[in-house]
Amino acid sequence: MEIKALQVGALGTNCYLLCDEATKVCAVVDPGADANRVAAAVAQTGCTPCAIFLTHGHDDHTGGVADLQALWPEVPTYLNHRDIYPDDPRAQQLFPLLSGDIRDYDEGDSLSVGSLTVSVMATPGHSEGSVTLRCGDALFCGDTLFAGSCGRTDFQGGDMEKMMASLKRLSALEGDLQVLPGHMDFSSLDRERRVNPYLLHAMRGTI
Ligand SMILES: [Zn+2]
Repeated sequence: MEIKALQVGALGTNCYLLCDEATKVCAVVDPGADANRVAAAVAQTGCTPCAIFLTHGHDDHTGGVADLQALWPEVPTYLNHRDIYPDDPRAQQLFPLLSGDIRDYDEGDSLSVGSLTVSVMATPGHSEGSVTLRCGDALFCGDTLFAGSCGRTDFQGGDMEKMMASLKRLSALEGDLQVLPGHMDFSSLDRERRVNPYLLHAMRGTI
């Protein structure tokens, strides 16, 4: 397993390439913008893209999807259905509707990236459909868990109580996993369990 990160778009969204060197297959997590840069980075790995995984439906994470679909028409995109608002134009400003091969994924699902297995945890709070993806010791947290912080809960579908429950679940995972958030710095779960005030509150159940 090899993971490459690149920052894309005006809000500096972390886009990740999850590569299986054994089979030369990769997945793209959160191509928020700059599809051409993302595609060039994928080409550099020598891997064939097999999936686009979205941690949630916000436009700064999904902005590159349409252009990548045009480049890779056979590659499916995964997004939890709770972040799709087909009948709510106001919500669509933040959760733009995607077209093409969009597939649902949810708690307990497992997906293959070559010989790697990606498992899905539903971690609502930042949005209803936020998920955290785990592959080996890597956690792709989207805007749920940040280094030293957590995602906002004041957007549509946001909920602080659910965020705390999601953070509590993440805090209970065994081992010092890599924390790969949707924005800003990378971290580790042990470090976050020590210093992240939101995670500490969630672990103590004081919010
Ligand atoms: Zn977001």
